[in-house]
Amino acid sequence: MGIVGNNYVEKRGKLARLYYLYEVTTALYMLEPWEKFIVSHRFKPNAISFYNYSKSVATEIPVYTEPKINLVGLNPKQIYEVASRIDPKINKFVGNQIYQWIYKKGCLEFDNMANLSLELRKKLGNSCIISYGNVRESQLSVDGTRKLLLEYKSEKKKACNTVDNGNVNDTSEEKLVLGYKENPGDLVETVYIPEVDRGTLCVSSQVGCALNCKFCHTGTQKFMRNLTSSEILGQYMQVAYYMADFDRKENERRKITNLVFMGQGEPLLNYRNLKAAISLLTCKDGIAFPTNKITVSTSGIVPLIEKVATELQVQLAISLHATEDGLRNKLMPINKQYPIKELIKSIRAFCSKSSDKNNRVTFEYVMLDGINDFPGDAVRLSKLIKGIKSHVNLIPFNPWPGTEFKASKKAKINAFYETLSNQDVSCSIRKPRGQDIFAACGQLKSNSLSKQWA
Ligand code: SF4
Repeated sequence: MGIVGNNYVEKRGKLARLYYLYEVTTALYMLEPWEKFIVSHRFKPNAISFYNYSKSVATEIPVYTEPKINLVGLNPKQIYEVASRIDPKINKFVGNQIYQWIYKKGCLEFDNMANLSLELRKKLGNSCIISYGNVRESQLSVDGTRKLLLEYKSEKKKACNTVDNGNVNDTSEEKLVLGYKENPGDLVETVYIPEVDRGTLCVSSQVGCALNCKFCHTGTQKFMRNLTSSEILGQYMQVAYYMADFDRKENERRKITNLVFMGQGEPLLNYRNLKAAISLLTCKDGIAFPTNKITVSTSGIVPLIEKVATELQVQLAISLHATEDGLRNKLMPINKQYPIKELIKSIRAFCSKSSDKNNRVTFEYVMLDGINDFPGDAVRLSKLIKGIKSHVNLIPFNPWPGTEFKASKKAKINAFYETLSNQDVSCSIRKPRGQDIFAACGQLKSNSLSKQWA
């Protein structure tokens, strides 16, 4: 352990506090990142109500106001490393117990980790937190869709403010970096969509988006930074906690049955954090979310599409929306970098590398009135994806304030659907969900403006 340590919590006098601050300020420059994690801080529980999940129960979630290491987002090895620096006596078995309390049982308090010693629980509480992020708003649509506005501010990682597409071959594990430079509290949205036979959680991967797709509300929000793996995972854990998906009885079905990375941001431009989050979501000792129920949606970051099959091993969805480069360049500027021909080639490579040959690639196609909804578009689409095991989702455009687009007429959407079906293309028309709370596809935007419309 480094120069400053748990001693601080033992000494609560003014002098000790001043000495501690002096030590922290001078020593932080010399410490290893791990050691910086282990600096003890006092815990100031505050509370915010997570309201409306159940009208009768308002649950209190602690809000942490001082930097401690957040164990949400750490894998078993990392949790063991943190814990063993706090208490060198512990072994890997105990590290795994802590991991299971967090990821399997959804435990939020170290005090409740019954099979750990009281001393270890106290030490963990002094140095670490278990935080899913703070719920700033919770909105319920008339159709039952739930949108959460989550705030993340306790962590800052090295690569957070850059788009992660610099070196696509560098897939090294996310490095744990100290968390003292507090960011100003970035807001992201996550949406839970309940249906009769399933519940889908739509997760965000970035704060804002750099890609500026013209039909997408998030595209009008400036790109701020990548979410960390902890923040990506925190969205799932927040909702799973309130849906009582942790520590389920045997054979009890999850309430969140499907996870889609279709919220704010381009997931493949935050590849390493996405990979780390998926690895924790699917880890058998913890959440154990089935890989075939996780879908990563991309606007077409060609060099990384194959890795969705080989490394992430989850399902793929492509935001296509146009069948010719001219129109797609206008609707989705990323197409200038990765045109349709290259995109389709990479999708075929994904299919050939996918371990489950029954997997279907989903093509998302937003229906824009007078733009991409002509019969010729449908015919071209069917030719483009010929031979790819796929499903086309036709999405009636969900309007947002200031957009130049209008939704296609119902008759045109139906005709498009018929044309595709006649060409033996598996397709469906997506039912809009959560429109009244701006939670529908393409409507998410989490900066302060969104509150005016909420
Ligand atoms: S559709 Fe996706 S990639 Fe395009 S602007 Fe919206 S969030 Fe970004």
